[in-house]
Amino acid sequence: MEPKLALSAADVVALAPLVVPWLERGVPELEARSLLTDGLPPVVFTARGILADRLVRKLPEPRARRDAAAPAPAPLECADCRDPLPRGQQGGICAGCTGAVRSAVSPAPPVSVAERVAALRATLRSRPAAARG
Ligand SMILES: [Zn+2]
Repeated sequence: MEPKLALSAADVVALAPLVVPWLERGVPELEARSLLTDGLPPVVFTARGILADRLVRKLPEPRARRDAAAPAPAPLECADCRDPLPRGQQGGICAGCTGAVRSAVSPAPPVSVAERVAALRATLRSRPAAARG
């Protein structure tokens, strides 16, 4: 590595936690080296200080990695109707199949506009004549 950035063992230990996100993000070594050592000041007083600063400031954004070894997990589906299960449910059957949804949501029979108007008219007609003003 850059000779100006000679680190003691204690420096390495201190910087290690800052390196972890770089490893987790899979930053290529060449890119990391360039980000961490390019444009160093002519005199480096504390390699540890500069690296700590750069490890934080120059951490690249996480990139979408297509890892062929780890395919995207298939969405879990209801064992009964094969509908996708809600997030967090690890298996079994969906709420619809347990009857939870069906009993909770008992849809009223569809009412057409004509039926509503007829009902409204009936309501008005049934009012006492005195109440109409
Ligand atoms: Zn189901």
